[in-house]
Amino acid sequence: MPVIQKWQNDDLFEVNQVGTSIEGRDLYLLSIGSGETDVFLWSQMHGDESTATMAIFDILNFLAHDSFQKEKETMLKKVKLHFLPMLNPDGAEVFQRRNSLGIDVNRDALRLQSPEAKTLKRVRDSLEADFGFNLHDQSRYYNTEGSENPATISFLAPAYNYEKSINDVRGNAMKLIVQMNQLLQEFAPGNVGRYNDDFEPRAFGDNIQKWGTSTILIESGGFSGDPEKQEIRKLNFLTILSAIFSIAEEEYESMAIADYSKIPENDSKLYDLKIKGLQYALFGEQYILDLGINHSEVYTQNEKQLFYRSYIADQGDLSTNFGYNTLDASGFDFEPGKIYAEVLPNLDAVEKLNFSDLHSKGVAYVRVQNLPKDRSYFNYPIVVVGENFKVSEEIKVGMNPTFFLTKAGKPHYAVINGFVVPLDGEASNFRNGFIIRN
Ligand SMILES: [Zn+2]
Repeated sequence: MPVIQKWQNDDLFEVNQVGTSIEGRDLYLLSIGSGETDVFLWSQMHGDESTATMAIFDILNFLAHDSFQKEKETMLKKVKLHFLPMLNPDGAEVFQRRNSLGIDVNRDALRLQSPEAKTLKRVRDSLEADFGFNLHDQSRYYNTEGSENPATISFLAPAYNYEKSINDVRGNAMKLIVQMNQLLQEFAPGNVGRYNDDFEPRAFGDNIQKWGTSTILIESGGFSGDPEKQEIRKLNFLTILSAIFSIAEEEYESMAIADYSKIPENDSKLYDLKIKGLQYALFGEQYILDLGINHSEVYTQNEKQLFYRSYIADQGDLSTNFGYNTLDASGFDFEPGKIYAEVLPNLDAVEKLNFSDLHSKGVAYVRVQNLPKDRSYFNYPIVVVGENFKVSEEIKVGMNPTFFLTKAGKPHYAVINGFVVPLDGEASNFRNGFIIRN
């Protein structure tokens, strides 16, 4: 809001309040340009999908910045741009997908119960926009089909009927996607996917395509080493800006629709960590297991580090799956973590322990008498548990992955809260333990 208010007092952008969310937050449309071709971009109809909102403000800043003036002037004579950032501010406030009514705004395009959906429809209709950009985030566990590459950006030219017909409106969206994909391959080769185009009669993308606006869905997924999605934000900025230039210069018209279907489809085969070929003993028999482990972000207040709670998402033959990180555990035995002998009074006492020494002895858990009630993360490489905690000897889907990989009884790797801590080399600086209350 402060950034939008800044533009309100400036005559560069036309700033109009176009609606209000259920909880009374204002929805704004920022427009710029004098061209015949209307381009409408909206983001974050799902409150926890914020990447493109950041990129929209980057584009607004780029347009306002004293650079590339000639290119921008030429462009803005041909197009008029309309930005509606953060369509679901109530959901964004609590970082949830749904709006205050508890519905998915993207299933409200026909019934139009929510003020957010009504606003989107009204703005689309009033502009009769030529192009529409429907900006979302997708799961970071999506890969591009047949590869270990995350689908960092996925595109869709939504279908407007069950037959998935291609008319000029949808065809132009496909051509534009072909060009955006070409550009992205230079910056994130192999990281572009194509979203499933099954027709969803209640969704906005599908209907806006049907209403005559060439609609492009852009989904931001995961990217290795970018948990805050700031690299992905840059890719969004580049992609959207290049598309706007292409629309202005009508470059997309020379692209081949057939190339659209050559973009690999999204698949869902990624884990944060894949451990393969682990030797696991159960009732005296030996088995080989792969583990798919995911790190799920924990809500924290006033912390500068991201904290995760991990869980085993799948186990078995995961040879068709991939990991952001992979550990080949062939020849290593699964060994449950031991509990530190002493019961400590509080977390301060835990912080004083020598963790590499504990790991080398196979200790992964420390019992604590007074566990903090309001937090589940712990910024040291150990799992803190209550006094009555019992270690599970088994590996099960859903459980917190904390154990050792041993050879001839000697620990070589600790796996603490789903993160690998190598024990043979230099001391690791991993600091994302976990608190388990039992
Ligand atoms: Zn979404």
